[in-house]
Amino acid sequence: MGAQQGKNIAVTRSSMPGFDEYVDEIRSIFEGRWLTNMGPKHQELERLLANYLGVPYVSLFTNGHTALEFVLQALGLEGEVITTPFTFVSTTNAIVRSGLTPVFCDVKEDDLTIDPACIEELITDRTSAIVPVHVYGSVCDVEAIGQIARRHGLKVVYDAAHAFGVQVNGCGVGSFGDASMFSFHATKVFHTIEGGAIATDDAELVRKLAKLKNFGIATPEEVEYVGGNAKMNEFAAAMGLCNLRHIDEYLAGRKAACDRYRERLGGIPGMRLIEPQQGVSQNYAYFPVIVGDEFGLSRDGLFDWLQQQGIGSRKYFYPLTSDFACYQGIGDGAHTPKARDAAARVLALPLYSELLPSDVDGICDIIEHAARS
Ligand SMILES: *Cc1c(COP(=O)(O)O)cnc(C)c1O
Repeated sequence: MGAQQGKNIAVTRSSMPGFDEYVDEIRSIFEGRWLTNMGPKHQELERLLANYLGVPYVSLFTNGHTALEFVLQALGLEGEVITTPFTFVSTTNAIVRSGLTPVFCDVKEDDLTIDPACIEELITDRTSAIVPVHVYGSVCDVEAIGQIARRHGLKVVYDAAHAFGVQVNGCGVGSFGDASMFSFHATKVFHTIEGGAIATDDAELVRKLAKLKNFGIATPEEVEYVGGNAKMNEFAAAMGLCNLRHIDEYLAGRKAACDRYRERLGGIPGMRLIEPQQGVSQNYAYFPVIVGDEFGLSRDGLFDWLQQQGIGSRKYFYPLTSDFACYQGIGDGAHTPKARDAAARVLALPLYSELLPSDVDGICDIIEHAARS
């Protein structure tokens, strides 16, 4: 048993290229002294990522959160934005920091993405956009969301931070809505240490984002927008170029771990797994389990038990963003019962590309022990 071997396992671990590979990649930065401001690495990574993600344009940013704030500004949104409270706090923070009011919508029980059936009743004459989240790499009901948006003249910006490389019937997940945000944070499937991007098919939007992330500067003597500074630097882009070369290995490692989790945990009473969606490729970004009443322990009990055995896990997402102190009085969590139930029951288990199936066996032995107790 993993516990008896005393092997501590963290919930996540960054994927890394070889040290020499990264050093080779940054050599030209030292020689050329072009460290940031849309240099050669930045340009190459934007081109390669657009190709990999299957989208017309990619605009790189310092991180995913900032990318989301900038695209909300670029789209000129006002008033209310319909979104999900079952997400990382970044999504809601980006909306509120952009001067917009989040209106919280419930999620679907199966994949925990925003429920299109609940969106329309939340639309008012102040609504300007929908910001859904592709939770754990499961894709939102993009068809239904697109129809609602068209019917009511709303913009759609997807938080695709979890959905790097996911394809829907062969189509890149970043092709839906007006724009999608990807995060390249160190813990994500693909990373640039810190980083993020907006994917879109709107050439005008990409040009605007390029200016906005560089202070709104159009030419040396003209500032067109009240922009900020959110440019990815060349060292981060170099890490991205290295990691993109290894993405297939990273995904294969994650898949092997996820396959073993499914085999081992699929039959445990009271433990629900998120099922892969029809026609949607998986990126194995997270391995969440939903702890039901039939399981021997509560979610919090399982979290504590794993921690005692040296196994990291994460209550992800918990609490709902609408429950954070800074959002008291905004929205009303009571209208999102499915999101609330999921937040109380979900636990993300350790997952990273180097997590071995034998490590997963150790973790599952510990979980089975808890189920029996
Ligand atoms: C990681 C993440 C973000 C923020 O991305 P950063 O690159 O860390 O700024 C936003 N939303 C979700 C759902 C995320 O998982």
